[in-house]
Amino acid sequence: MTIKIVQIDYEKEKQEKKLDKSSILRLETKKVSPKEFATKELQEILKNMESAMNREEDGVALAAPQIGISKKIFIVREKVYSKEAKWKPLIFINPTLIKVSKKIKAAEEGCLSVRPFYGITFRHSSVTIEAQDFQGQKFSFGASGLLAQIFQHETEHLDGILFIDHAENLQKIIPNPKS
Ligand SMILES: [Zn+2]
Repeated sequence: MTIKIVQIDYEKEKQEKKLDKSSILRLETKKVSPKEFATKELQEILKNMESAMNREEDGVALAAPQIGISKKIFIVREKVYSKEAKWKPLIFINPTLIKVSKKIKAAEEGCLSVRPFYGITFRHSSVTIEAQDFQGQKFSFGASGLLAQIFQHETEHLDGILFIDHAENLQKIIPNPKS
């Protein structure tokens, strides 16, 4: 069974001048409870998230609501870390940004749930995230650049916020057909 990534119809929202509040993508997600850690069910969710993300060639991260699960989980693709990085946390459960830089950077951004739109967002250039792993172990991780942008995009997903809610210069970009 292939897991579909939930889509939001940005053009319709724009036309009707209102957000689609009925979408799971617009809901505040629930925290993963202590008894859910290290269970088969959690493993299954993570597996489904991973296969949905990996099917998308340009996918760099995915939040649980994007596959219809309203829980505070996101995953990151290993390829966004530098090869030299010693530690590459890929699973972030119950994440919060505990520190953000004053410095803001404009960046191009898109979302697997808002295809095929891209826009410019203004993100903290570096952030520190605190989260739990599969076992429930707490960790914190500092990031800048693309990873910092991903952490902000994904934690917003878990609050029911999409990048199109604050991005500028949104444009439809149809990727070139690959040979
Ligand atoms: Zn997204």
